[in-house]
Amino acid sequence: MTQANQVVTIFAKGSKNMRESRLGLPWSTSRIRKRFEYSKWMESQSWLDARKLWFSTWVDLEGRDPTCLACGGNWTLQHGDLHHRSYERLGHERFDDLMPLCRNCHDKVHKILESSPSWRKLNRGQASDLIVGRLRISQKNTSQVESASLSNASLRVDNKAVSQSG
Ligand SMILES: [Zn+2]
Ligand SMILES: [Zn+2]
Repeated sequence: MTQANQVVTIFAKGSKNMRESRLGLPWSTSRIRKRFEYSKWMESQSWLDARKLWFSTWVDLEGRDPTCLACGGNWTLQHGDLHHRSYERLGHERFDDLMPLCRNCHDKVHKILESSPSWRKLNRGQASDLIVGRLRISQKNTSQVESASLSNASLRVDNKAVSQSG
């Protein structure tokens, strides 16, 4: 790999990787600047206002409160995360740039997004949508397994209750 290629690779990683600092990787000036802009924005009152606006837009459009797009769990302005499908409009995000995720699912999305090189071939929005879709399916399967084992458990309890009473 040539020096120039290395720089390009690092830059490409940096643009998709803002929540996680990777120790040991040299950071390009542009990446440091982007991270700085990102964390400044995330800590600002304007971002809290943008979240409120996003929330009310969602309620207007959907007619209900948002839930985590991956697991369907509760999402509130106090405790919910908004994942960036794109960082292009950081500071003046469009409604579609953001997606509601609970903290747990948001962490999962970033781990998957940052773990596999195949996601980097897609743009961030497409990759995010696909990953959330996959999580939703695996969530569904998990809850089916859980409810199946739950009903087995309650069956056992029922049998026990029957045998005890009988
Ligand atoms: Zn979730
Ligand atoms: Zn995110």
